[in-house]
Parts: sequence; C-alpha cells; structure tokens
Amino acid sequence: MNIVLLGPPGSGKGTQGQLLAERFDLVQLSTGDLFRQILQNPGHPLYDELQIVKEGKLVSDEVVNAVVEDAIKKLGNAKGIIFDGFPRTVAQAQALDKMLNSMNQKVDVVLDFNVTQDVLLQRLLGRRVCPNCKRVFHIKQGYVECPDCKVQLVTREDDNEEVIMKRFKEYNEKTAGVKEYYLDSDCAYINLTVDDADATPEEVHQQIISELAKRGLAR
Ligand code: ADP
Repeated sequence: MNIVLLGPPGSGKGTQGQLLAERFDLVQLSTGDLFRQILQNPGHPLYDELQIVKEGKLVSDEVVNAVVEDAIKKLGNAKGIIFDGFPRTVAQAQALDKMLNSMNQKVDVVLDFNVTQDVLLQRLLGRRVCPNCKRVFHIKQGYVECPDCKVQLVTREDDNEEVIMKRFKEYNEKTAGVKEYYLDSDCAYINLTVDDADATPEEVHQQIISELAKRGLAR
C-alpha cells in the first residue's frame, strides 16, 4: 500500500506518517527530512541549491523528483511507501505516478489533512524535533531530550513565524492543484478534518484507521 500524505506545514503529516509506518510496516519517505540531511553536508552536490528550504520556498520539481527517485531505488523491496511532503506540485504527482508505474505500483491512498491556520501556527511555533530519529514533539509535552535517543531536542530553522507564513503561501499557491489531481484519479481519497487543537496524535491516528477500515483498507 502506497500512501500520500497531503496537508499544509504543521498538519501532522510527519507524526501520523510515523504511526502509520509502524502499524502497517511501511517505509516513510519525507522529502523535508531528506533535504535537511543534505543541508548538514556542505560537500553535497545539492547543498547550494537546497539553501532555499531555509526561506520556506519550494525546491524545484526537477531536484525533488530526482531525490525521490533515488530514495525509492535505495529502498528496494518495501511493502509500501508513505510519501510525506511529496508530491507538492502537479508535476511531482505526475512524476510519482510514472515512478510507481514502472514498478507496477500506484498511489493507493491519499490522506488530506485539513487543519485551520491558527492551529497550524500554534503547532509549528511549539514544535521540537529529535535531530537523531526525527520524532516530532510539542513544547507542551515538556520534553527537553528525546526519550528514545537521549539527545537534546531542537527547533527547525524554518519554524519561525516569517518563514512559516511563506510556507503557508507556497502550499496554498502550489499544492492546491495536487488535490484535484488525486480527486480525479482512482485512489482512495480521504479528507481528514482535524479542528481540535488538543487532539492527541493517537486520536488522529484512530480517526485515520477508522476511515481506512470503512474502505476495507484496515481492520
Ligand atoms: P512542512 O510540511 O512542515 O513545511 P517539510 O519537512 O515537509 O515541512 O518540508 C520542509 C521544506 O522542504 C519545505 O518548506 C520546502 O522548502 C522543502 N520541500 C519538502 N518537500 C518538498 C517538495 N515535495 N517540493 C518542493 N520542496 C519541498
């Protein structure tokens, strides 16, 4: 089962992707994580090109598609992939279809996270991540270090109000078309509305599982 997670920054794609990956034994592929990893290595051929990530702008389709194709190849025989943060443009969605097609696979499920901008902003401004395992936390949980890795949690460089606003703008301008693209396809399109700022990750996960179950895709 291949799943695309669609939703604005802070909507919970990363957190829910992790829970789904564990539950269904799938591999989570986060383009944001891949890019942040490259940005830690000044010798990487894409290092200069990826500097725009820090400004909240989208990376070019050409570069994103090449990075994703390479990552998929390296995965070998995964049971399925959860695409987190990809595709973000219609050209990327078309490229993904081609990549999966060549492996006799397709996008099976699209989970579209709908969250109001107020809630998103609250979440992003309080977000902390483990630099090691990439697990996501919120300051209200009170963790200083990752309970698994015992490494101090960090704030992402693009999680400040100015850059967050640019990321929302990019999402609204460029990713809206991706919804239409998948609504016109034969995948299971699941619209999730997460309007409770205090909903726990586990509650949202259960909401997703019950939607999948209605379509015979989970028990
Ligand atoms: P968020 O969804 O919270 O913005 P991500 O970790 O998914 O965070 O992405 C961080 C940044 O990486 C984006 O703001 C963008 O610059 C870049 N990026 C990630 N995925 C893509 C993509 N599919 N296309 C273009 N740029 C991307």
